[in-house]
Amino acid sequence: MNKALRKAVIAGNWKMNKTRPEAKALIEELKPLAANAGCDVVVCVPFTNLETALAATAGTNIGVGAQNCHFKESGAYTGEISAAMLKEMGVGYVIIGHSERRQYFAETNETVNLRTRAALDAGLTVILCVGEMLEDRENGITEELVALQTKVALKGVTREELSRIIIAYEPVWAIGTGKTATSAQANEVCGMIRKVIAKLYDQAAADGMTIQYGGSMNAKNAAELLAEPDVDGGLIGGASLKAPDFGAIIDAAGK
Ligand code: PEP
Repeated sequence: MNKALRKAVIAGNWKMNKTRPEAKALIEELKPLAANAGCDVVVCVPFTNLETALAATAGTNIGVGAQNCHFKESGAYTGEISAAMLKEMGVGYVIIGHSERRQYFAETNETVNLRTRAALDAGLTVILCVGEMLEDRENGITEELVALQTKVALKGVTREELSRIIIAYEPVWAIGTGKTATSAQANEVCGMIRKVIAKLYDQAAADGMTIQYGGSMNAKNAAELLAEPDVDGGLIGGASLKAPDFGAIIDAAGK
């Protein structure tokens, strides 16, 4: 991390986990552990937990995010939630383009761009996920693929709006598998994404961009990953469901 240039952000992605009472209990346990965080802290919870999470985090340093939003403002889109609906509730963040949505829900680079645009228009901060599959890495196309995902996702995003974009580099082969990218691999791709931002915008924009690593980050490996100069935080799945583990990652990011 280079804290002189940019914010470190530790965000939890709870995925499809926790009932409302469980969500409240987890946040209550997390609050004292996050109270003195030396980084921004966010929990991205299921839609059904947003109201609970907002109430439980009121007056704290923990931000609340959703895990997806639709790109239309309203209309006949059964089962979907708009960015404006999230904003109206007081939600601050939304994950867009998570690999599980790309894999299981037909999310494409183009729909990621549309959702990113909609979230920005509604005033949300976007945690934009990019990352290669194992096959892409083995075929030597990680750089091209992640650059393409980044460029398409940011189509039509102004330089001013970049302050509300956090990029999460998440190699798909490392998500939920216990197989973490080495700190050198994480730093290499985060640094490459930064170069893409510099080309699309300018060097100052790239230097100021928070780029997280995500993929089996946990209490044990967080410090090493976060020590890398281009890794500005983490998007954490499994380990965000246990307050002590998530708290330890927050501590590692604060150092
Ligand atoms: C994620 O869901 O974004 C993630 C990184 O999951 P995990 O930490 O469980 O690999």
